[in-house]
Amino acid sequence: MNYFPVFFDLTAQRVLVVGGGEVALRKVVLLERSGASVYLVAPEVLPELKERAAAGLLNLAIRDFVPEDLEGARLVIVATSRRAVNRWIASLSEARGIPVNVVDDREASRFIVPAVIDRDPVLVAISTGGASPVLARRLRERLEAAIPKKIGDLAFWLRTLRHAARRRLRNTDERRRFFETVVDGAAARRFIEGDTHGAQAIAQQLLARSSAAPKAQGEVTLVGAGPGDPELLTLKALRALQDADVILHDRLVPEAVLDMARRDAARICVGKAAGSVGSTQEEINALLIEHALKGKRVVRLKGGDPFIFGRGGEELEALAKAQISFSVIPGVTAAAGCAAYAGIPLTHRDYAHGVTFVTAHADKDGHEPDWRALAKPGITAVFYMGLARIEQITAQLVAHGAAASLPAAIIAQGTMQDQRVITGTLATIAAVTAGSNIESPALLVVGEVVSLQRRLAWFNSAAPAVLSVGSSGRPAA
Ligand code: SAH
Repeated sequence: MNYFPVFFDLTAQRVLVVGGGEVALRKVVLLERSGASVYLVAPEVLPELKERAAAGLLNLAIRDFVPEDLEGARLVIVATSRRAVNRWIASLSEARGIPVNVVDDREASRFIVPAVIDRDPVLVAISTGGASPVLARRLRERLEAAIPKKIGDLAFWLRTLRHAARRRLRNTDERRRFFETVVDGAAARRFIEGDTHGAQAIAQQLLARSSAAPKAQGEVTLVGAGPGDPELLTLKALRALQDADVILHDRLVPEAVLDMARRDAARICVGKAAGSVGSTQEEINALLIEHALKGKRVVRLKGGDPFIFGRGGEELEALAKAQISFSVIPGVTAAAGCAAYAGIPLTHRDYAHGVTFVTAHADKDGHEPDWRALAKPGITAVFYMGLARIEQITAQLVAHGAAASLPAAIIAQGTMQDQRVITGTLATIAAVTAGSNIESPALLVVGEVVSLQRRLAWFNSAAPAVLSVGSSGRPAA
């Protein structure tokens, strides 16, 4: 983000507009709605602007701009048809520390004006950082359609409830929960449908019930964050993230996923990347319990699926023992995500009738995986946390009967923009990987299905299958 988004209160503030054409007119109309005192300077102006001045909506000076016009201005918008003039006025404004926008000249502008959806008092502003006004407009159209027309009235109504809520509900968490129930539930729905009385009655009931209820008990939701691409979050996971008071997450959870969480949720990184020293499992359990006992809604966010090599089970056992209520939201596990994005079906009628997920870490008693079972033909084996042990894994499989020519793949940073897929055979994959500075997180996939990757790769792939064939069915030029 290069721009800092703000909503500027311009009530009775002097705003200078330089220019008298269509563009200036559009800005004047927007500015009027903000209650600003608009001053417009231009040697020639549209009749509409003159009418507005006659109606007392605008102060008009029909002449060339002079630097003194900047005196006392809080904002400047420059929209003359002459680029050099625009830039000169921009530099004068800059020198005086007055934020300036030059229409269609992002470089000369200190601020830019977003595309807006105005449902007073709800205002949605959209910016592409100046990269594409068309894209911003399209986004606005989509949001326009998705946001109910009455959302502004709803906001006004919610404001009227705030006073009563403050009186009846002591702490901020209780108040937030009350408003979430109102906004997410029947009350807001009734209001939007036009049943104001019904909405009011439901809200009053809720308020009475919330203030009578004992202090809400906290809870923990164990959430699978998926393998990396934030779009692979489930709808439930998204909801939990947006409702959370506290989020405890692994290092593996990418920033883009955390960005989906409620802005003011406390975020605690509890380490646990392969080979790193983070919090111990006992410390994590203790933190979960501590926050839940304070009445917080805690999200324990884990990469992939929480029940697949995520120690989710152990955390729930600790919560159960402490009598804290919990729920689990599954996630797309790394094997499923990586296989899909790499174009490697994990099972296939011709190649594999089963798939096994294995951790390459020996368990706490030092037990090894069942190599003989993994080496059997017709099975796909997916090794989690296997990067550091790739040589031992491939050697063990061959030693237990797998063909050295069996296809194998390493998928690193799976489902993310920088995903890398490396293929070879049991005989070669370790060496190929060593030579390509692959970094964790990475999965090792072993089995005949890997041979399909050449034809089925689609994501971030140099030659996507669909594009290499023209509409005639022949290869495109
Ligand atoms: N609960 C997680 C697994 C945690 S173990 C899940 O269900 O996916 C951590 C291991 O998962 C990593 O060492 C790596 O082998 C694998 N992994 C997780 N995310 C990955 C990704 N985006 N790409 C490749 N491997 C990944």
